[in-house]
Amino acid sequence: MSSVLSRMMHTTLSRRRAGALAASVTGASVLAVSATRPTGVAARQDDDPISVTTTVGMVGDVVRNVGGDRVDVTALMGPGIDPHLYSPGASDIQALSEADIVFYVGLELEGRMIDTLDQLPSLDIPTIAVGNAISEDDLMMPEEYEGNPDPHVWFSVPLWMRTVEIVRDELIEYSPDDTGTFESNASAYLEELEALDAYVREQTETVPEDARVLITAHDAFGYFGEEYGYEVYGIQGLSTASEAGAGDIQDLTDLIVEREIPAIFVESSVPPATIEAVQEAARAQDWDVTIGGSLYSDAMGDDGTPEGTYIGSFTHNIDTIVTALTGEAADEDGDASDDD
Ligand SMILES: [Zn+2]
Repeated sequence: MSSVLSRMMHTTLSRRRAGALAASVTGASVLAVSATRPTGVAARQDDDPISVTTTVGMVGDVVRNVGGDRVDVTALMGPGIDPHLYSPGASDIQALSEADIVFYVGLELEGRMIDTLDQLPSLDIPTIAVGNAISEDDLMMPEEYEGNPDPHVWFSVPLWMRTVEIVRDELIEYSPDDTGTFESNASAYLEELEALDAYVREQTETVPEDARVLITAHDAFGYFGEEYGYEVYGIQGLSTASEAGAGDIQDLTDLIVEREIPAIFVESSVPPATIEAVQEAARAQDWDVTIGGSLYSDAMGDDGTPEGTYIGSFTHNIDTIVTALTGEAADEDGDASDDD
């Protein structure tokens, strides 16, 4: 697989530079907004909720849990949105420039927003990359990613718990009067996350060890594999800005057929075409691999549903993975049964 990976990497990096240029153009619009930022924004009343803008929903969910009714959260990237490819529009720039605090993942996840986010501190808006809560020793640095960390840190529950602490501390710094509320909310949420972590380990135990292989559309699940003991393969590289080639599809197909892997997975924020191509190719080699369902990778589900939360989307993922890898009926999303 190594030549495949290095080829994917090359594409990722050149795309990434192009993305950075696009972002710096957008960055110019932030400055334009700053010149006209209404002075009234600063005159927040003490009782008003703190206005928080986040990039991905997973970060917004942490802030909601820790801030409770003391925060009013806007997450810019909703269900199905791919953060690697997302460029901020005019309304996003407005939501960012009017926020009291901005939280994002960082670690280059929001590749096309970085220049915009970098402008915000000059507007006196605390702008915090929650990924910085995770020490460098714990970050995965895939070789083929040439010194950049894997940004998908939410797939290890213990690592993601550290972002709860940074959010708590930043909210307290912003509004010390609410210290008690933020501290007790954070403790309660950390307990829920501990329970989630235990559940994921418990469910994983039901999958035979040699069947703990997770194949998805892109490399979002590295931390999941590391934390919970799965071999993980993505057809595209760490960022969806790279493209899958015919060779990548063939290599993965060979692996699936050789090891008789029962199921592969689509992702809610990545078009299913490449995973479907792998399924077709495996079937052409007489191995009927099913699509085990759709996983939430870089975005959560719809607001107001259980999957619209971090805990709910993670629970959906582990249930979907375990059901499909243990060979039970995987028709929850209609994917597997429709194709048969
Ligand atoms: Zn991703």
